Amino acid sequence: MNFNKIKQQDNDYIANTYARFDVCLVSGKNATAISSDNKEFIDFTSGIGVNSLGFCDKGYVDAISEQASKLQHISNLYYTLPSIDLAKNLCEKTGYSKVFFSNSGAEANEGAIKAARKYSFDKYGNHRNKIITLVNSFHGRTITTLSATGQDSFHNYFFPFTDGFEYSIANDIQNFKSMVDKNTCAVMLEFIQGEGGVIPLEKDYVKQVVEICKEYDILVIADEVQTGIGRTGKLLASEHFEVKPDITTLAKGLGGGMPIGAILFSEKVSSTLSFGTHGSTFGANPISSAAANYVIDKISNDEFLQDVSQKANYIKNKLLEISEVISVDGIGLMMGISLKTKTSLDVAKKCVENGLLILTAKQKLRMLPPLTITYNEIDKGLKILKNILEGK
Ligand SMILES: *Cc1c(COP(=O)(O)O)cnc(C)c1O
Repeated sequence: MNFNKIKQQDNDYIANTYARFDVCLVSGKNATAISSDNKEFIDFTSGIGVNSLGFCDKGYVDAISEQASKLQHISNLYYTLPSIDLAKNLCEKTGYSKVFFSNSGAEANEGAIKAARKYSFDKYGNHRNKIITLVNSFHGRTITTLSATGQDSFHNYFFPFTDGFEYSIANDIQNFKSMVDKNTCAVMLEFIQGEGGVIPLEKDYVKQVVEICKEYDILVIADEVQTGIGRTGKLLASEHFEVKPDITTLAKGLGGGMPIGAILFSEKVSSTLSFGTHGSTFGANPISSAAANYVIDKISNDEFLQDVSQKANYIKNKLLEISEVISVDGIGLMMGISLKTKTSLDVAKKCVENGLLILTAKQKLRMLPPLTITYNEIDKGLKILKNILEGK
């Protein structure tokens, strides 16, 4: 099928909620994808931070295939092996006590919000339900996670939204203090605002927020849907900030491309979501769990994670040599590039025309390459990007 036909069929039959780039990808190896018209693309996106190990890592494919040929699904009314292995693995490597498995980031956040409110309900009664999130945050597309998202542009059309969310200015501790009251049950934050434009929080601010929350028994929920699973050169981004949130949510990179999300509960909230209070038909899917287990085993060692940081430094230094680049924000392989004169979306479109997949976040160009991208692939991709940024 030629590309125009593919595009037409997509337009005809898929709800038109996405502005797609003009390319259809059909296969790939590590950070190199092949399109329907057989062109090669260097991948600086890994989906949107999903393909942690790139396309079709051999061991990853084997883990999925092996599980698919044994048991692809059974309900959560029965025990399954991949889910208990993954839960143990996650808890042991992160220091959390218990896990609930969802299918996406929004669902993980939705469950975290439920847990926070129930924790407070159980202990203090139903008035204590306010959740503070940050201005410019992104937490998902369900009605409640849209409410949690601190961007006005997301609070439209779908009224009424879920009550009980208030937005505090990131990195402004006075503003945060002024919003905490006797009805506050939780704060939810991204250590690096991803969709908001790759903006890291300040370490001091995070530490102070966590301290205040501890004092008033307010739960800290870290949305690590994008920052987790090695993306920043640590298994969890919280390690950079030297804090331990009460709840951490994961999704994007966790399954390496298979859909799975997770809510990690610390001891304090490990039994809050009790029997009958939460569930998911597809949650803890055996194939997704086997995939995630493989991803975790591969990335959670110092050598792998140091390599992520080294590649990130290499990329950052190369980017800063380009005169059109003002600055590069982010930690590890989660990067936002500010441009002097060019529009990020125009650049991203030109990149696609020239064999490079790259993202945008607000005014910035955004890179979330697979953690396994090779230096050869990095150099190929950066060469394309440099030529476009220098107008060649
Ligand atoms: C992508 C993202 C989400 C939503 O995840 P979905 O899997 O699309 O529901 C939530 N929070 C953050 C920080 C994200 O980056």
